Amino acid sequence: AATDADPVLTDGFQLVIDALKLNGIENLYVVPGIPISDLLRMAQGEGLRVISFRHEQNAGNAAAIAGFLTKKPGVCMTVSAPGFLNGLTALANATTNCFPMILISGSSEREIVDLQQGDYEEMDQLAIAKPLCKAAFRVLHAQDIGIAVARAIRAAVSGRPGGVYLDLPAKLFSQVLDAAEGARSLVKVVDPAPAQLPAPDAVARALEALKGAKRPLIILGKGAAYAQADEAVRELVETSGIPFLPMSMAKGLLPDTHPQSAGAARSMVLKDADVVLLVGARLNWLLSHGKGKTWGEPGSKTFIQIDIEPREMDSNVAIVAPLVGDIGSCVSALSTGMARGGWTAPPAEWTTAVAARREANVAKMAPKLMSNASPMNFHGALGALRRVIQERPDALLVNEGANTLDLARGIIDMHQPRKRLDVGTWGVMGIGMGFAVAAAVESGKPVLAVEGDSAFGFSGMEVETICRYKLPVCIVVFNNNGIYKGTDVNPTGGSDPSPMVFVPDSRYDRMMEAFGGVGVNVTTPDELYRAVSEAMDSGKPTLINAVIDPNAGSESGNIGSLNPTSTVRKG
Ligand code: ADP
Ligand code: MG
Repeated sequence: AATDADPVLTDGFQLVIDALKLNGIENLYVVPGIPISDLLRMAQGEGLRVISFRHEQNAGNAAAIAGFLTKKPGVCMTVSAPGFLNGLTALANATTNCFPMILISGSSEREIVDLQQGDYEEMDQLAIAKPLCKAAFRVLHAQDIGIAVARAIRAAVSGRPGGVYLDLPAKLFSQVLDAAEGARSLVKVVDPAPAQLPAPDAVARALEALKGAKRPLIILGKGAAYAQADEAVRELVETSGIPFLPMSMAKGLLPDTHPQSAGAARSMVLKDADVVLLVGARLNWLLSHGKGKTWGEPGSKTFIQIDIEPREMDSNVAIVAPLVGDIGSCVSALSTGMARGGWTAPPAEWTTAVAARREANVAKMAPKLMSNASPMNFHGALGALRRVIQERPDALLVNEGANTLDLARGIIDMHQPRKRLDVGTWGVMGIGMGFAVAAAVESGKPVLAVEGDSAFGFSGMEVETICRYKLPVCIVVFNNNGIYKGTDVNPTGGSDPSPMVFVPDSRYDRMMEAFGGVGVNVTTPDELYRAVSEAMDSGKPTLINAVIDPNAGSESGNIGSLNPTSTVRKG
């Protein structure tokens, strides 16, 4: 027992855990190893939920999407050098997507690393992380852990959210100090992401631009979904009467079935709108940079933009009315301005034209979604999954692939905010299982992961993680034997397969069975619907191998135009 003569001590391990807990961090997404294994054991002992992955990139992706879902930084922990680099891919992706995340990596001895004397896993991790994230810090003294964790949290969630790197050299963990001093060194972050009110004249300018519109459009991006200002966004859309177009991860912020949704009239509204209000959406490649054919006549658009990041304005085209602030404050200011200033709804000619196009496109699609053809095509299979989500609007949907992504985005209606999680700003493959794990852990709701067979391969080993933690995740692998299609052949006639195909007729469902999960092989939309419904209701980890016609699918899905083509090609 401790006596007065025996001071109570704490150490670096304990302070890292205390600092995270003090700031409301509940889950850690990790891969153990030197020097963080004991840290993770202790963290679990102290009541944190520690989810241990098979590869750091997947742990990192899990942390990133946890950040998107909760508005608190998701925390990933890795070992040094290679583990750190694996996690860094996810950190860079999180930063690109504006998801708050903290990557904490152990590192080797500073003295040896800096003299480049060849330590175990030697690498100057701080320098490497810096250009790829929002902020990067290293802690050398245990008494600085509290302030470093506080800085990392504030850097991740304030302003435009993003990734933060925290470098913890191995020696730090075993540094000992007086427990009372340690407790005093901890910092609980107060108001980590303060509201940022838009300037009144900026609000007036935006309202002025909107008032003059004959064919206005609101584009909702994943920044608007992230902001958790759902009611304020709904109020703006509904008071204004303006049609809205959700970007991929903003689907469900207002239901896709909302009468003002222009989701199924996308090409038309982008081409014909005269005034466009961007709400937490960037005019990047996903919106053709705000110019070109997609956007109709050159010079036909007036852009108003709401964003927390001032430098986002004028990044691709001129923003006539920039509104810098947080989404909630900005959209509320617009709604208030409309109520005060006697707002009149947009011309009926425009809103009825948008609605008519939407209805026509929905009607055109409907019969394809009813197909029960075998082998399945994408539409038949996705028609079945669309029903599953319609019947369970609170389930989360993870989606990656090429055709599997593009077609699912259009076909599967979302009904609630932050339920659709996908490849994001980079259009990156490999987020699938990391996102699915965190979606289940953070929400406690069933998760449906709709994966192309190629996309699934990037994180497929995490099915073991899903089984180990008994997570309510149902994975559907759209198996068409390859990338885009399963039909490419080696032009030389040699025995190697084309780089674009996989082992034909693989049975991904058996991977799940290897770890005690449920595996199902399906060949028709009806079977698919039944198997997925059962998995979602039972909550048992399930992988459904959905056999898709190898001829179905097109090169790069909807973005084939981004492929350079050779004019002198021989093969
Ligand atoms: P999408 O891909 O859906 O179009 P983007 O990731 O391109 O969305 O854009 C999201 C934007 O939202 C970013 O520019 C980011 O700065 C902004 N953003 C993120 N969170 C907030 C917030 N709380 N308030 C205002 N803007 C935000
Ligand atoms: Mg495929």
